[in-house]
Formats: sequence, C-alpha cells, structure tokens
Amino acid sequence: MDGWMAGKVAAVSAGAAVGMAWAVRGRSSSVFAPSVWRGPPGRKSIALTFDDGPSESTARVLDVLAQYAVPATFFQCGANVERLPAVARAVAQAGHEIGNHSHAHPLYCLHSPRAIREDLERAQETIQAATGARPVWFRAPFGVRWFGVRLAQRRLGLGGVMWTVIGYDWSLKAEQVAGRIAGRVSNGAIVCLHDGRELRVRPEIGVTVEAVRRVIPEFLERGYKFETVSRLLCPKS
Ligand SMILES: [Zn+2]
Repeated sequence: MDGWMAGKVAAVSAGAAVGMAWAVRGRSSSVFAPSVWRGPPGRKSIALTFDDGPSESTARVLDVLAQYAVPATFFQCGANVERLPAVARAVAQAGHEIGNHSHAHPLYCLHSPRAIREDLERAQETIQAATGARPVWFRAPFGVRWFGVRLAQRRLGLGGVMWTVIGYDWSLKAEQVAGRIAGRVSNGAIVCLHDGRELRVRPEIGVTVEAVRRVIPEFLERGYKFETVSRLLCPKS
C-alpha cells in the first residue's frame, strides 16, 4: 500500500470509529436502541434526573428537592436498591419517578444480548419489589447502548432516555456543574446528575447537592417548571 492509500484507509477507519462511538454513546443516537434526549420545546419545563442511586447520600438530594417542592426522576441501579431498599422506597414515596439504570452498572458493549437482557430484567424486578413502581424509562450505564439493548427495552416496555445536559458532577466543582447546566438548559431539557457514584458505598456527592441547591432557585426564577421525565415527555398522561 502506498502512502496515499495508507492515509486514506487510516482516515476511513478513524471516521468509522468516530461513527461507531457516536452510535454507541451519542445522546441523540438511536442506532442500538430508541431513546430520547430532550422533551418538546413548546413548554417551559425541564426534568432533573439522578443516576446511580439509591445511595447513603440520596437523602441529601431529596432534602433540597423537598425544600422547593420540585419533582425529579431517579434512575436507580438494582444492586444499589438491593443494598438500600428503604432509600429506594423513600425516593418513590416522596413523589419522584423511578427509572431503570441497569442492575450492576456494567459497560453493555462488553456483554452479550442475553446478559444485557438479564441485567435489565433483574433491575426491573428489584426496583419494583422495593418501591412498588415498575420503571417505564431506562438510562444506559455510561450512556452506552449495544446489541441487545433494543430487544431488552422492547420486552420490558422501557423507553430509552439520554440527556440534553450532563453535569459531570463526578469530576467538576459545584459552580462549574451549575454553570454548565445554567448555560445549556432551554425548554424541554433533560438534565443528568448523580445521587450515587456507580455502585460505591457511601459516595461523596457534595458537588451534586451544592449544584442542585444553586440551579433549582435559578430556574424557578427564570420561570421554568420542573417535571418528571414521564410528565415532560407525555404531558397528557
Ligand atoms: Zn450511571
């Protein structure tokens, strides 16, 4: 192969890799499974979502939400629900929506379609047993969709939900997280934060709590209404 040809092949395979990465992780990609990444723009409503709970720290987020009487959606991991069923239940009893965020928070691209289906089913059963609520929304761990997710979602009646804005609350400072969100939210936005850190026990979520404390009053001031994912996406239901 001459240099020109080698360069062209490298460019094509780099392009294919980028395309594949988008297909797997892109917030608006529905290549591996259908999902939404924002609500309708016609209403001044937004949805706060929290992944990776329940955790020993979830109550801190619930306190802030209760202070402003703001509903949210919690994408719980089945393994965390097994560890802390009372916390999972407290989230549901506070009026928040519960979604499925897998059982063991795996990277689905390392697993077979069958393992993916079993993981999702196990989470679904565990969450329902603890909270009484059967999730209708699924957020993929790490945002990674893969072969098998589409069928598993369909079998369990789960709609995929990505995000409009992700807070990077596991790595940034609270003011940076709040700033990212404040600058990127518009009508119908779905905001992704975390009340846990994957399956970690007693995770430190001070950044998340502080960011939520900053953004809620700001958005209320700007005239936004907070809604669960179901209400945001299906306002008539
Ligand atoms: Zn997660």
